[in-house]
Amino acid sequence: MRQKLGTQISAGFALIALISIFLVSISANLLINRQFEKYAQNQQEKFSENLAEGLSLQYDSGTDGWNVDYIHGVGMYALNDGYIMKVYDKDGGIVWDAENHDMARCHQIMDTIRARMGKVRPRLNGDFVTHRYNLNQDSTSVGYVDISYYGPYFLNENDFRFLDSLNHILFVIGIISVLGAALAGTAFARHISNPIAKTTQITKEISEGNYEIRFKSQIGTGELHELTQAVNHMAESLERQERLRKRMTTDVAHELRTPLANVSSHLEAILEGVWKPTPERLQGCYDEIQRISRLVSDLEGLSQAEKEYVTLEKEPVELLTLAYTVRDSFEQELASKSLSCSMTGETCTVYADAKRIRQIMDNLLSNAIKYSYEGGEIHISVHDFGESGVLEVEDDGIGISQEEIPLIFERFYRTDKSRSRKTGGTGIGLTIVKALVQAHGGKVTVESETEKGSRFTVVLPKGEDDE
Ligand code: ADP
Repeated sequence: MRQKLGTQISAGFALIALISIFLVSISANLLINRQFEKYAQNQQEKFSENLAEGLSLQYDSGTDGWNVDYIHGVGMYALNDGYIMKVYDKDGGIVWDAENHDMARCHQIMDTIRARMGKVRPRLNGDFVTHRYNLNQDSTSVGYVDISYYGPYFLNENDFRFLDSLNHILFVIGIISVLGAALAGTAFARHISNPIAKTTQITKEISEGNYEIRFKSQIGTGELHELTQAVNHMAESLERQERLRKRMTTDVAHELRTPLANVSSHLEAILEGVWKPTPERLQGCYDEIQRISRLVSDLEGLSQAEKEYVTLEKEPVELLTLAYTVRDSFEQELASKSLSCSMTGETCTVYADAKRIRQIMDNLLSNAIKYSYEGGEIHISVHDFGESGVLEVEDDGIGISQEEIPLIFERFYRTDKSRSRKTGGTGIGLTIVKALVQAHGGKVTVESETEKGSRFTVVLPKGEDDE
């Protein structure tokens, strides 16, 4: 079974927190314990030295006697803290001995300490060790003291309480951190998984045909934002494709209906004997059928052009030479309308599909001829703009109104003016031009004014390097 991203991220966060806290606690614990033990050991030594120093002051050299009351007080106090003291004079005679004084208490304290240390530090293998300190007054020895205490160190009640509470605090911090990490993980996971879940939902809807759906909320994470934007773009382009597909079907049906209706009504009338099959009438039917086959072949051309993104066969193409060739191939059409066609410009080689570039030029020049008045002038020019090559086809024909300029590259669009001229155009040529230019990564634009003429400009990137 697949786990949810959110659960995985939260669990990951909690696990990382757990491991870090575990490592931090262990190392902190070890470090603190070690330092604390060293501190306890120092304290023991210092305490014993202080005891010895205090005891040496209790000898009165004048009377050659000891302040036994004071020594007793100190000895009992030290005994309670785990220090068993035995004070000797300089001749080795006992001045005060804790064990002699209260043997039972001494043993009780020693047993308690042994038991406690054995329990909490079983590996320490410690025991009571006797340390001897000289008792000096003005650098003369006045006696010595044997102090026994648990070594290498021992910890009293307070010390244990301190260490315990430290461990307790570390434990509580650990729990809080793990909970905090799990919470942060959950919030973070939600931040990431919510848009992903939403994107999944949207793509599912898109795959079911709902192309209008969009991801609307803003996302702070760069990659997720890009993902949602990409999905939105995909939906947009599918929506556009779908719209085009539907329009294409209606447009084709519409474009075919008129000539087909004309042909069938004419033929019907002839068959029923209403009309005589005169050559003019048959020519009319033939023209309509020609129009239908032109439309079909234009449609084929268009679908081919729209596939060109994958099938371009690029090679170095010299635009000026190609333009001359194209002009020459239209010699007859130019002559039949008494049109002049001048050429200017410079040589310019682009890396492109020669057949397709020729198709672009053919369409533009054939339009210029179709939409020119008798005796008009057409001008073709080629320029090298460094990064790109530019081809211009200019005429002084009927022109295109400003409102119609944005529409002429659409399928089947023909301006009102051109329809009335019965040019036989299908309104697909420029759609093909645009598709082919775009397939080459270029751009086609038009400037035009009604009755003054039009100028079509094609910019083609040279594109050798990136191929
Ligand atoms: P068509 O087969 O009708 O020429 P196109 O797609 O080539 O189809 O052109 C679409 C429409 O754009 C034409 O019907 C015409 O109205 C207009 N058009 C194209 N080229 C020119 C031009 N050089 N001068 C005036 N109008 C033009």
